Amino acid sequence: MKVHNFSAGPCILPQVVFEKMAQACLDFNNSGTSILEISHRRKDAVEVIDTARALVKDLMNVPETHDVLFMQGGASLQFPTVAYNLLKEGGKAAYAQTGKWAENAIKEAKRFGEIEIVASSKDKNYNYIPKNYTIPTDVDYFHCTSNNTIFGTQIKEFPNSPVPVVCDMSSDILSRKIDVSKFGAIYAGAQKNMGPAGSAVAIVQKDLLGKTGRNIPDYLNWDTHIKKESSFNTWPVIAIYGVMLNLQWLKEQGGVEAIAKINTEKAETVYAEIDRNGLFTGTAETEDRSQMNATFVLNNEILKTEFDELLKEAGVVSLAGHRDVGGYRASMYNALPLESVQVLVEVMKRFEQKFG
Ligand code: PLP
Repeated sequence: MKVHNFSAGPCILPQVVFEKMAQACLDFNNSGTSILEISHRRKDAVEVIDTARALVKDLMNVPETHDVLFMQGGASLQFPTVAYNLLKEGGKAAYAQTGKWAENAIKEAKRFGEIEIVASSKDKNYNYIPKNYTIPTDVDYFHCTSNNTIFGTQIKEFPNSPVPVVCDMSSDILSRKIDVSKFGAIYAGAQKNMGPAGSAVAIVQKDLLGKTGRNIPDYLNWDTHIKKESSFNTWPVIAIYGVMLNLQWLKEQGGVEAIAKINTEKAETVYAEIDRNGLFTGTAETEDRSQMNATFVLNNEILKTEFDELLKEAGVVSLAGHRDVGGYRASMYNALPLESVQVLVEVMKRFEQKFG
């Protein structure tokens, strides 16, 4: 049976990525060796990371002022890395607190200096994006999370900021057009729209670096990875190969602008049904709804087993909501076809026919 994978991440990736990764595990580039047993410094491995970097630059239209680097440790290691690289000794930073991942970013940054929370939606269990807040001029940077994976909210318009904006784009990078020049740094764990888990990408404005006065460990210094072209130490060749293949697939689909249109259609399809169908309620404020993660609950929890059974019959998997929100979460990353969303909507309609 065909499976429709709504996982929040690691998530669905294009079939061609798996096919090529599987082949590379058996025999990479007809070399007689597996991609898992080769040096990251071998010529064709270096080509992989160079191509992946070039594709990020191309697909996101990264300006000359910025550079792209890959690290391990996921987005979670970028939380302290941001502060190490941008928060001056004795300095301050401003953060928007819009979800659990933002909380984690704040927690890590607090180890390095004073953190001012300039906006928060914690009062309503993060079901909206705060607006009309002021970013102070005396902070080293302002940090926000573009898409709150757990709560299903997304920043639609980034604030005008007097200081560099640093953004955790883990769950919506490459899903919509972004003007990279407006950000001091962007980072993302790979395991949603970038590719398989195992790396994080950072896109960094180069002239912001080297100014904190801190003695940064080499690995956590973004500049190390820029200078060494992300080959400072052994990087996961298979994971970056997956990123490269996924980005090649995205380019073949017509790039970010083309996929953004499909993402909008997918999101509109599922939200229309959530709003129409009397058995469900969306949990995020309508204007702040995420195009990547649609969160909703059953109006009558007693029917959960019945709804889950219908989902199972239709091959819909990984729709359970995060424990902090409950209910359901339809994650609709780039590789999820519109058809899967239509199947989900059909199930919701059938559920209404039976129990509405
Ligand atoms: N930030 C956001 C918005 C996320 O969705 C996640 C994971 O889902 C993270 C950070 C943490 O990413 P990682 O597991 O790569 O550390």
